[in-house]
Amino acid sequence: MIAKLVSQTDLDAWVDALIGEQTVYGPKAKGDRFSFDRLNASKDLRLDYDVSILPPKKYFHPQQETLMTFNKKGEFESVIERDPFVLFGVHPYDFVAIAQLDKLFEMDYPDAHYLARREAATVVVSDVQKASAEVFAGAAGFATVEHRKGYDLLITRLDDGSYVVDPRSPKGEKLMTGLKKAPDVDADGFRAREAVWARNREQLQKHKLKMKPDEIPGLLAANRDHPVWEEKAALCYSCGSCNLVCPTCYCFNVEDELNWDMETGRRTRTWDGCMLTHFATVAGDHNFRPKRAARYRHRYFRKGQYVHDMIGELSCVGCGRCITACTANIANPAEIFNRLLEEK
Ligand code: SF4
Ligand code: SF4
Repeated sequence: MIAKLVSQTDLDAWVDALIGEQTVYGPKAKGDRFSFDRLNASKDLRLDYDVSILPPKKYFHPQQETLMTFNKKGEFESVIERDPFVLFGVHPYDFVAIAQLDKLFEMDYPDAHYLARREAATVVVSDVQKASAEVFAGAAGFATVEHRKGYDLLITRLDDGSYVVDPRSPKGEKLMTGLKKAPDVDADGFRAREAVWARNREQLQKHKLKMKPDEIPGLLAANRDHPVWEEKAALCYSCGSCNLVCPTCYCFNVEDELNWDMETGRRTRTWDGCMLTHFATVAGDHNFRPKRAARYRHRYFRKGQYVHDMIGELSCVGCGRCITACTANIANPAEIFNRLLEEK
């Protein structure tokens, strides 16, 4: 099936039909902000959201999950979730983050829990309609996903209010069955979509980067001892908020919990964050990153160099969530990278 041109009315009817058939998650209003949640009707879907509070990675790497159950006899059973679902309305920069997690969770020891959820999902990417206050995905090179693979459908709202719905995989084609009767997108429609992409590349730059993204690993490597790490970290509360809202953070803690019967238990995995004081505490109560400045610097090296060395791409997609979440106003990656360049 080729791309279809769909009116708002037909899009709503299609989404309502999908919700009637399967579990669909998407962006909904939450006060004056937005949050990904289960959709009960198309009227709740807000494709005009600027940015969600938490990234949609939570559907693949949840805040807390049970990895396995066990008993005192030494028997255990893995808990793998394979229930199919549709993840609707993911912004391009958040999809890039998911694609990065795909590589990282497949690397070395493939993570059966993450990969099973990913396999079960149909991912619908939606081009950004409204730039958030702190986004810089355009500067980081992640404003659009037209050349990427790994998602199933791409939806773009054109300036006349209609939508281009473009299948990107067999799963996406299947999801579009209810749009068969909509007209095919013609050359004018594709040109109008190109114009939306060009505008988003420019407008999703509330902060500019004064260097090419691929220059950032080298810039960091040359600045391990820059005074900015101590200076900013002196204001840091070690609250971990910048970790918890980040679409590319994936560190976790694993714990075994015994039930009240003292016979059975479960192994859980919970999000962790490298900015938290005890993130690096190991056996013997030894903390190998006890200083705030070391933790602060580590976070930027993680985003700008370490993960880049593993997957060849900047691990900050420019969503701007950490900038909004940081009450100390010290978590802007673009500001830090620019300063390293200016003062090198
Ligand atoms: S470091 Fe900040 S701006 Fe970059 S992806 Fe994470 S939350 Fe978004
Ligand atoms: S959100 Fe700000 S104050 Fe909190 S850990 Fe991150 S940098 Fe520090």
